[in-house]
Amino acid sequence: MASNDKKDPFISLVDKLRSFFGFGNHPKKQTGLPGKKHFSIWYFIFAMIAFSYLQPLLFSPKTEAILYSQFKQYVSQGLVSDLIIRPESIKGTLAGPPKRAFTTVRVNDPDLVKELDESKISYSGRYENRFLSSLLSWVLPLGIFFLIWRFAMKKMGTGMGVMSFSKSKAKIFAETDTKVSFADVAGIDEAREELEEVVEFLQTPEKFQKLGGRIPKGVLLVGPPGTGKTLLARAVAGEAKAPFFSISGSEFVEMFVGVGAARVRDLFSQAAAQAPCIIFIDELDALGKARGMNVMGGHDEREQTLNQLLVEMDGFDANKGVIIMAATNRPEILDPALLRPGRLDRQVLVDRPDINGREAILKIHSINVTLGPDVDLRRIAGRTPGFVGADLANIINEAALLAARNDKETVDSADFDEAIDRVVAGLQKKNRVMTAQEKEIVAFHESGHAIVAESVEHADPVHKISIIPRGIAALGYTQQQPTEDRYLLTRSELIDRLAVLLGGRVAEEVVFNEISTGAQNDLQRASDIARAMVTEYGMSDLLGLVSYGSPRKALFMPEGFSTGKNYSETKAAQIDDEITRIVDEAHQRVRKILSERRTVLDDLARLLSQKESVQGEELRQMLAAAP
Ligand code: ADP
Ligand code: MG
Ligand code: ZN
Repeated sequence: MASNDKKDPFISLVDKLRSFFGFGNHPKKQTGLPGKKHFSIWYFIFAMIAFSYLQPLLFSPKTEAILYSQFKQYVSQGLVSDLIIRPESIKGTLAGPPKRAFTTVRVNDPDLVKELDESKISYSGRYENRFLSSLLSWVLPLGIFFLIWRFAMKKMGTGMGVMSFSKSKAKIFAETDTKVSFADVAGIDEAREELEEVVEFLQTPEKFQKLGGRIPKGVLLVGPPGTGKTLLARAVAGEAKAPFFSISGSEFVEMFVGVGAARVRDLFSQAAAQAPCIIFIDELDALGKARGMNVMGGHDEREQTLNQLLVEMDGFDANKGVIIMAATNRPEILDPALLRPGRLDRQVLVDRPDINGREAILKIHSINVTLGPDVDLRRIAGRTPGFVGADLANIINEAALLAARNDKETVDSADFDEAIDRVVAGLQKKNRVMTAQEKEIVAFHESGHAIVAESVEHADPVHKISIIPRGIAALGYTQQQPTEDRYLLTRSELIDRLAVLLGGRVAEEVVFNEISTGAQNDLQRASDIARAMVTEYGMSDLLGLVSYGSPRKALFMPEGFSTGKNYSETKAAQIDDEITRIVDEAHQRVRKILSERRTVLDDLARLLSQKESVQGEELRQMLAAAP
């Protein structure tokens, strides 16, 4: 509630007014039939017009309007009586069977009173009751304006009302109990372990501050859609029992200039008041796209919001216990400023689960489903390589629906098979699913990379090998862990790198006597290294210490934009020959390595096909055990 005190007095007055009139603060209410409201205002206006026309008929049905000249005639004949003279009109009773009331518009006639006296007609004056009519004359339009305004506000949606600029709409309130815990998250254990530390920060910040440590400010969850990033963030809040402010990147970007920035400010001030807590920005890429050089020289709304976010991130003190979490599946387009130390400096990879992970996720989601005795979750996990948590949850749900449609008591294996087919068919349209044969090729390819990396002297040790399709890389990947940061690379290191890159392709060659297109990226990188060795680093004996080509990049030009070549055609041919020679030598070398370690290659590939991911340590043990 402390944040209320800081509110702009004008805004809080408007708030009071709005709550007094009973609208504006019901974000969800506006979804009710807009068409109905649209009609009601027109009914109202129509009724007003009709009423004003009908009023004389309704309220004085027997009054006859007569001309003044006629009135004067009646006066001279003595046919009128009981006159009431008003400044604008004269009313009275007309004699003669039957008597009837009349009214006439008064004209300037100074002799009227004299004539009335002469004809002995009774008359009296009356004050116009101006108060009521004048009140009505301005209250009524005001009322109409009010109704129109109210109608327009509703139509615009409460969050966008001109008066609610600085109020963040939707979900800005903290969730104090997210009811999600780490037990609800499975299959992404590495990410979970890293986040357990964040939970500790939130629970016992003193423990970390005691030794002078600075608590990290921000954690960025990176991974493909549906892998459980949002779920994981909520679980952190649930485990730490901390309030959870969750907002999606796109919600910051609004149509009014300045609203996004105000919203960011609002969010951080609320969070500061409730620390320790978590601010979670989902789909950060919508907001955090790199700020380009704007050709028109202006800032757009998104950039302003992003700038405000950067300012707020710098401005608050993490030791108070506000931790920012964000999620994205496109880290490469984020503004580098967001990833700087002191901002979202910790990045946690949330990758697709392997077969064990998928089994665990299936287990969690089938808790409330009555499974038939023939259902084997392990088998289902085996059939769904590359599926993410959301896909698996979807399969369980589909299977349960299918079983229900067939009036079954339990969800059987057959239901799951059909559900998988459905989901796979849906996925197949979006991204390809690997066949068993492709899987085998990829297993050997990655094993080749890994074994070469462990066999050559200067390569970084293998951390993890994976053939989970559509993981970080397209088909599979071999992760090497650098033992130290490198700024300089020696020639032998570059040659070893080249060998590791060729390892995948050569393994396919050795095993299948057949090659696939899967090595395209490897070959590209290998050629780049070889070319750089020759043209930039002066590492070719034949061409000597000359730099060819012009690697100087134009300052404000996009990456890869370089200017033309500065050497002769004969040199160009020599360069090409040298590159080919270097790559060929590497090829021969790798062939030898893999042929010698053929048994390990077979074993590793088989293990990979089974488990989908293998740790580097396991590979080293296999290599040590081999003759
Ligand atoms: P993301 O934010 O990465 O796109 P979500 O966290 O929104 O994915 O996941 C969507 C849903 O999929 C979750 O609500 C959960 O039901 C299920 N899910 C995804 N990943 C997992 C997981 N690792 N463990 C359990 N359930 C998961
Ligand atoms: Mg999400
Ligand atoms: Zn490869």
